[in-house]
This record gives sequence, C-alpha cells and structure tokens, in this order.
Amino acid sequence: MKAPQDVFTEYLANENLKMTPQRRLILDTMLKQEGHLSSEELYVYVKKRDSSIGQATVYRTLKLLSDSGLVEPLDFADGVTRYEPSYGKDHHDHLICERCGKNIEILDDTIERRQEELAAEHGFTLLKHKMYLYGICADCRK
Ligand SMILES: [Zn+2]
Ligand SMILES: [Zn+2]
Repeated sequence: MKAPQDVFTEYLANENLKMTPQRRLILDTMLKQEGHLSSEELYVYVKKRDSSIGQATVYRTLKLLSDSGLVEPLDFADGVTRYEPSYGKDHHDHLICERCGKNIEILDDTIERRQEELAAEHGFTLLKHKMYLYGICADCRK
C-alpha cells in the first residue's frame, strides 16, 4: 500500500496543485487524530503545531483530502461535517445519539452482506455505502 503522503502528492499533481509543508502538516495532523473531526476541531490541532496556518487553509485542505479518498466526510445530522481517515482502514458504520452527539462505530456482517445482495438484486455493483443509525444513547436515556 502506498503511503498516504504519496497518495496525496499524486492526487494534488493530478489537480495541478503542489504538496506544500502546510498541506503535509494538515494531512499528518488529521491522520494522527482518533475519531471524527470537524474542520474547526482539526484547525485547533493544526494551530498548535503551526500557528501561521489559517482556518481557511485547513478547510480547503480537508476538502482536498476528502476528494483524494484519504478521509471520508461524515454526516451526523447536526449540521457539522466531520471527517475520519479512511485510507487503508476497515469499513465501519455509525450509531449517533441525537441528544449528546456521541457516536459509536459499528459493523455487522449480516447487514453488510445484505447490502451487497440488495444492490446485486437491482443490478448494482456496490462501490461503497454509509449507514447512520440515529437514536438516544444509554447515558442520555437515564
Ligand atoms: Zn447521548
Ligand atoms: Zn467512524
């Protein structure tokens, strides 16, 4: 597997863009974080490492990372787009609490298989899917 930095460099070259120290640092910071980050949250981490990088640069770079397939945008239905590293990672889906915003990563072989079967029944080759289950978490139900 290619290193994420190489994947990003190649993607940028295809878009007639250059790998820059700033873009490299933003990619590196994103890959180091666990979980699901909004652009604003990533910016906080990036700023700690290089205070000269602006929020707009982080936002635009995150968009490029998403378009390059290195990170995946997530919609937890609260109006904030979050991202998680997806390159070379195993697939998972998400349970979202509508009260506190907590998310839990889930994977069920039966559901995964049924999705493939359903797509095939309609003549589709499944390329990807995102499943979000929205509800109220155990803590919020107390
Ligand atoms: Zn909750
Ligand atoms: Zn996740």
